[in-house]
Amino acid sequence: MELSEFPRQSIAHLPTPLEPMARLAVHLGGPRILVKRDDCTGLALGGNKTRKLEFLIAEALAQGADTLLTTGGVQSNHVRQTAAAAARAGLSCHLVLAPAVTWNDPAYDVSGNVLLDHLLGAQVHLLPPGTDRDKAMGRLARVLNSQGKAVYVIPSGGSNAVGALGYVACAMELADQAAELGEKVDYLVHASGSGGTQAGLVAGMQLSGSSTQVLGIDITANAADLKKKVRSITQATLHHLGGDEALDRNALQIIEGYAGEAYGLPTEQMRAAVRLAARMDGLILDPVYTGKAMAGLIDLISQGRFDKDQTVVFLHTGGMPGLFAYTEYFQQD
Ligand SMILES: *Cc1c(COP(=O)(O)O)cnc(C)c1O
Repeated sequence: MELSEFPRQSIAHLPTPLEPMARLAVHLGGPRILVKRDDCTGLALGGNKTRKLEFLIAEALAQGADTLLTTGGVQSNHVRQTAAAAARAGLSCHLVLAPAVTWNDPAYDVSGNVLLDHLLGAQVHLLPPGTDRDKAMGRLARVLNSQGKAVYVIPSGGSNAVGALGYVACAMELADQAAELGEKVDYLVHASGSGGTQAGLVAGMQLSGSSTQVLGIDITANAADLKKKVRSITQATLHHLGGDEALDRNALQIIEGYAGEAYGLPTEQMRAAVRLAARMDGLILDPVYTGKAMAGLIDLISQGRFDKDQTVVFLHTGGMPGLFAYTEYFQQD
């Protein structure tokens, strides 16, 4: 089945810009660096989940849902974008949140994404640390159903075969933009968390016969699990698209070593990368995803992983509201 045959709700500003990080590239003395601005998808401060939600919301509406239910950490970008998409579609929205990390900044529980969740009118169910969020979401789904609600459940990160279609579309969009600029994209580097973004990109590159290598920087501190997730969602996505194509074994590249101790715990390399991107190109990254991915890119360049005549695209997946949950950390110099 062609991508264009799947129901899709137009909520993202597309195509997102593809622009050079000219000063950073010169500073690092490595390959040409372009940034794909998926932080500019437009919905409630943007980010990568909006592309997935175009397909997820369309499926929810097609199924006659009146209520969206999803889950994430307190500072989940996915949850914030889902709350916004629900508002736009006129659906009610329930969010099962629990702290994904212990981070003692007074802003953590009240600012950034969670502030926006409330502003967007979602019903926030805040659970204690260590709660099994998926189980809690299942319980809430049953309660809502028993109240007569037509509930559409979106998994953590919007990462399933339907959500990943958003990144199949992104792979095609990038190919068109690169062709227009006369660029050949050798590598696409991005933060990989719940796996749907990488799965969609890998499936999209494979289906379009692209030679661009997708490098997912692990931000979970559990690269083995992440790889399993990405593999299974990629296969499900290829299947959902009706192909009988098997996943190319070499296509799954997860780079570990930049997550730090745990998901959401800052690293010095991340802070340095966030500062450098801001001061070189005026680009704002986030502490949980894109800052760690950029730290990875900077380190790979310093190791000579890329040739000088190659082109690397850094996919900016958004997440900037999360920066404000780490206010104290970034105030220290
Ligand atoms: C969710 C998220 C990611 C990771 O995308 P996945 O599809 O979950 O792997 C990367 N960056 C930001 C800012 C995110 O919110």
